[in-house]
Amino acid sequence: MKIRDILAEDKPTLSFEVFPPKTEDAYETVEKAAKEIAGLKPSFMSVTYGAGGGTSDYTVGIASDLQRKYGVTPLAHLTCVSSTREKVAQVLAELKKENIENILALRGDIPEDKGMPKAYHYASELIREIKRSGDFCIGAACYPEGHVESANKAADMDYLKQKVEAGCDFVTTQMFFDNSILYSYLYRIREKGITVPVIAGIMPVTNARQIKRITKMSGTYLPSRFMSIVDKFGDNPNAMKQAGIAYATDQIIDLIANGVKGIHVYSMNKPDVAMKIKENLSEIL
Ligand code: FAD
Repeated sequence: MKIRDILAEDKPTLSFEVFPPKTEDAYETVEKAAKEIAGLKPSFMSVTYGAGGGTSDYTVGIASDLQRKYGVTPLAHLTCVSSTREKVAQVLAELKKENIENILALRGDIPEDKGMPKAYHYASELIREIKRSGDFCIGAACYPEGHVESANKAADMDYLKQKVEAGCDFVTTQMFFDNSILYSYLYRIREKGITVPVIAGIMPVTNARQIKRITKMSGTYLPSRFMSIVDKFGDNPNAMKQAGIAYATDQIIDLIANGVKGIHVYSMNKPDVAMKIKENLSEIL
């Protein structure tokens, strides 16, 4: 099923994410996690794509298993910046062969290795190519606080509009920990004339180590209410996990109460986290 049709239904959607293993011997662990998360019957599940790393080879396989074995609509991520046109064409052909209809089209992070291919510069180029190559439902990434490389939020919004005009059907946000940031972003998006559905990306922070990575990767604002939780429970893994899940649940309930229909949880191959969140929303969804 196409995700744009799932999003068009008049009810909130809850989706989860898995990432493929870095090495073959970790495949079984990821497969097990994906199966357990799929058992929660999410609206769809996304499978990330390594930016030039070995993990990209497993994305299509995992997405295909989700659909064939567990009956969950998959969203296969695809990045382009470290890729050749031939590699992109090959992945698109594999996705078609497996009847995978949904792709999240991304640029990927710029590789440090200067010798990498330079066929693509921005996600919009990939979106155009996917559009030309078949009947896919295409998603893209967006950044409520601006992308880290952007000169300013206005420029970032211009480029988001380019991606939508290139043919994307929905956008998924980078994680955020303060819902008011999303609400003002939604206002700016609509003011810009971008009308595609916006799926809110929620990251349940379940250990204090994640925080450093998050700030380095995305520069996401960490509100003091959130930081108090990390300060208080960061050294106690079980307490941090419980508090992180509660914080994410609280964000989701507030979003749904305020009319945001698409919720995507960065569940990071953790079925127990996905399960708890689903349970916490059992009467809400
Ligand atoms: P783009 O939309 O191309 O934007 C990149 C930068 O270029 C931005 O600063 C933008 O403002 C600017 N820009 C865009 N177009 C132009 C233009 N025409 N001229 C000048 N500047 C321009 N990474 C992975 O490796 N694998 C994944 O599976 C993955 N999944 C993700 C899922 C989500 C929901 C999100 C939010 C991010 C994900 N990422 C993933 C990370 C992503 O690849 C990085 O954030 C990357 O740095 C930007 O990708 P993009 O597709 O947003 O790029």
